Amino acid sequence: MVFGFGKSKTDNKAGSAAAAKPAASPAPADIPQGQMMGLMQDWPLTVNRVLEHAAIAHPHREVVTRSVEGPIIRQTYKDIYDRARQCSTALKEDGVQMGDRVATLAWNTGRHMEAWYGTMCIGSVLHTLNPRLHPEQIAWIMNHAGDSVLFFDLTFLPIVQAIHQHVPGCRRYILFTDDAHMPKDHGIPNLVSYETYIAGKSMDVKWGDFDENTACGLCYTSGTTGDPKGVLYSHRSNVLHTMIGMQPDAIGGGVKDTMLPVVPMFHANAWGITFSAPASGMKLVMPGAKMDGESIYELLDGEKVTTTAAVPTVWLMLLQYLEQTGKKLPHLQKVVIGGSAVPERILRAFEETYDVEVVHAWGMTEMSPMGSLGSMTPEVMALSRDEVVRHKLKQGRVPFGVEMCVKDDDGNIVPRDAKTSGHLMVRGPAVAKAYFRKAGGEILDQDGWFDTGDVANLCPQGFMQITDRAKDVIKSGGEWISSIDIENIAVGHPKVANAAAIGLPHPKWDERPLLIVQMKEGETATKEEMLQFLEGKIAKWWTPDDVAFVDEIPLGATGKINKLKLRETFKDHVLPTVQAAE
Ligand code: ADP
Repeated sequence: MVFGFGKSKTDNKAGSAAAAKPAASPAPADIPQGQMMGLMQDWPLTVNRVLEHAAIAHPHREVVTRSVEGPIIRQTYKDIYDRARQCSTALKEDGVQMGDRVATLAWNTGRHMEAWYGTMCIGSVLHTLNPRLHPEQIAWIMNHAGDSVLFFDLTFLPIVQAIHQHVPGCRRYILFTDDAHMPKDHGIPNLVSYETYIAGKSMDVKWGDFDENTACGLCYTSGTTGDPKGVLYSHRSNVLHTMIGMQPDAIGGGVKDTMLPVVPMFHANAWGITFSAPASGMKLVMPGAKMDGESIYELLDGEKVTTTAAVPTVWLMLLQYLEQTGKKLPHLQKVVIGGSAVPERILRAFEETYDVEVVHAWGMTEMSPMGSLGSMTPEVMALSRDEVVRHKLKQGRVPFGVEMCVKDDDGNIVPRDAKTSGHLMVRGPAVAKAYFRKAGGEILDQDGWFDTGDVANLCPQGFMQITDRAKDVIKSGGEWISSIDIENIAVGHPKVANAAAIGLPHPKWDERPLLIVQMKEGETATKEEMLQFLEGKIAKWWTPDDVAFVDEIPLGATGKINKLKLRETFKDHVLPTVQAAE
């Protein structure tokens, strides 16, 4: 190397088209004149990197699963990596190609993780199905997605038996178990046990080596109107979301941590933990099918879990169990709670009785799903305990990688004054720009913002607080109930003129549906009659907790039901199920 003041050989438009030899790589011809390109490696952000890293950097770190069959299974990231590769080979030999949709109907387990990476890393799309939906909806979603393979857990055999004839495109079924646990006379064609499917398969299979914008995962979210909508994640969005999640003020974690994601992989990718845990080297504890207080406690205590994540309902069950048994949480340091607003009593119980930090999280499927998290700033920590609690009950601040603003009805950004509420808008590399196979797909405004359907305000310190919901859905126990589906069925009753479903507060489930009915002139009906009419047409847990009869359902200017007015009218209505839950 020659030092001097003269123009060096590489001191020009180094990586651009004008680069002197040897250039790192030829630059595209359409680079504007004068633009200088960096000379760093091209390293496509594909999710195989995550598990490849874990297999090399954290090969012995454990992945512990409470298996659906019962026993606790202990694996390592290297085991998961090896078996995921075998799964890839099995899928390829079975004819699965890049872009094919491979579905799962499964709990959080090591096997689910193997199939997850086994599918994604060969460029096929892993489609997580939500088993809490009505079987008819699951079949609809599978057909819409064009799933050709389904992995599922023993628990969900009845669902698959009910739907397989209605999903003609699905040509292969794989049960996450071994031959010893295979059911007899199941009636499902092309069904094989997972262990047999991957047994003896080669680990020598090509992963990655495709464009980072290749589709990677698919997850449907219940629509505000009409049919469920598919969010199609890319490899790049998943890798960047992993990095978002690894920030210490987000979920964080490292090799000293043990993570228990109770939040399911089938609901918004377990908040990205199936990626961020192997990336950061956290030991992973997978709860399988059991989410009751005692089962979760057993894992928290037995595996010395330091960080965990779930919707508030799960934590209510755990806290109840702790109160009944007098047990404590000596290992647990941080609990991430989201999907619904955190009730104050849960927050105070964890922090004040059990000395566990609560991080309140907000997000949505369309955001991969992390949006904001409530880790406290030094300024807030200097305030009184009640002020700290007030801030913790807000929905948190954005990590790097998420942009957020609040807009008024005219599309103007409102001030961050902790008072002015409006439409909560987000932007970022892990936020959806369109839905899968949905015509008229533009879902962003002219500045590229996605409207979350939540109504919120922001404070000068960046804490976001949800104050209402513009979208027409009910969230019960962290899962959606489509008010529109219930209404559509209810108006099918011959005596009903109009019907509306709204969510009312509930101490255990956060919200439960109330069905409001306007009868046709001269007709009457009972609550029981209405509920009976819904039976079998919706998932059982969607059944409204109460039915109210009104003379007239209020309509807005465009003829749509005025839900705001209904929510106001029924704000003091106490559901009959509330008392029993308190
Ligand atoms: P997830 O349940 O994983 O957050 P969904 O897409 O099912 O993802 O639901 C997203 C919606 O759930 C949000 O738009 C918001 O209405 C509601 N939500 C999520 N987290 C919270 C929270 N912490 N507080 C209040 N509402 C929340």
